[in-house]
Amino acid sequence: MRRSRIALLLTVALLPLAGCRRSHAGPVAGPPSTNGPEVARLRGVMETVRPLYLPHEPSAWDLFFPEHGQTFQEYLAVNPNVPRDRRRILYVRQLGDLTPAQRHILEITAEYLEQFYGLATRIAPTLPLDHVPAGARRRNRFLGSEQIQTGYLLDLLKRALPDDAFAEIGLTASDLYPDEKMNFVFGQSTLRDRVGVWSLCWLGEPDQSEAEFRTTLARTLKVASHETGHMFSIPHCTKYNCIMNGALSLGEVDFHPFDACPECMAKICWATRSEPRDRYQRLASFFSRQPGMAAARASLARRRDALALDKPGRPPA
Ligand SMILES: [Zn+2]
Ligand SMILES: [Zn+2]
Repeated sequence: MRRSRIALLLTVALLPLAGCRRSHAGPVAGPPSTNGPEVARLRGVMETVRPLYLPHEPSAWDLFFPEHGQTFQEYLAVNPNVPRDRRRILYVRQLGDLTPAQRHILEITAEYLEQFYGLATRIAPTLPLDHVPAGARRRNRFLGSEQIQTGYLLDLLKRALPDDAFAEIGLTASDLYPDEKMNFVFGQSTLRDRVGVWSLCWLGEPDQSEAEFRTTLARTLKVASHETGHMFSIPHCTKYNCIMNGALSLGEVDFHPFDACPECMAKICWATRSEPRDRYQRLASFFSRQPGMAAARASLARRRDALALDKPGRPPA
C-alpha cells in the first residue's frame, strides 16, 4: 500500500557543540579560519554562481515554523561544528533488516554523501533490532504498524559511534516515533551526539518497480544530505530553493533541489575545505551515473562551468 500522508520532518538539534570544542588546533587538524583568504575566495565564488539559483518559494514548513535563515557570514560567527582532529569520517549505518533495494539505496546514499561533503564516507556494520525493549516500541494506534522510539535508536548509534566519526546517520525500514505525543516522524538527529536516524518506510517502496526505486532513492539522497547538513550546524535555509529548506511533507521533499544554494554551498566548502568547482564536478559526475537524474546533473554542470569561466588562462571552448 502506498503511503502519502503529510507528516512532520522532525529534526532536533539539541545543543550546540560547545562542549566538544578543543583548544588544540594545528593548521591541518584544527577548524578553518573564519577570516582568511579562503573565506574571501568563497565570497567571490558565491557571487559568480548566485544568478544560477532560484529564490525560496514560501512553503507549508514556513507557515508552521517561521525561521530567519542564515548567511555564510552569520554561519562563520556561530563557531559551527566542523570536521577536525580525528573526527573526519561520515558513517552510514543500517539499523535492522532492509530489503535488497533498500540496502542498495543505502549504499548509493553513502557514495552520494562522500561527493556532496567531500569527506570520506563509510558504511558501518549493521546493528540488529531484534531485541528492542518493550518501552522503546509500540503499535501505531491508527495504522497498527510496529514503531520504534527514535531516542532508543539514537542511543544505540551514540554507543557505537566510531572514534573517527564526524557524524553518523542510521537508516532503518522501521516506522519511528519520538514520544507519545506524536503519531510518527520521518527521522530525528542530535547535533550534540552527532548521530541521526531516518526511516525509509515513508520514502517509498523501492522493491516494487524501477520508478519506485528511483523516487525512493531521490528522497533518501535529499533527506540524508539535509540531515548531515544539520550536523555541520547549518540551519534551515530561507533565502533560496535549497536542499536545506525545511520540509513538512514528502511533496516538499520532492520539490526541493538536490543542491545547496550559494550561501549553504559556501558553508559546506568552508567546513570541509572543499574546492567549489571540484564539488560541483563530483556531484555532476555522480548524477550522470544515475538514470533519471539528468536535470540535476545539468544544473550542477552549469554551476561548475560558471566557475570555469572565472579561471584565468582557461582554454577556448
Ligand atoms: Zn531539517
Ligand atoms: Zn541554502
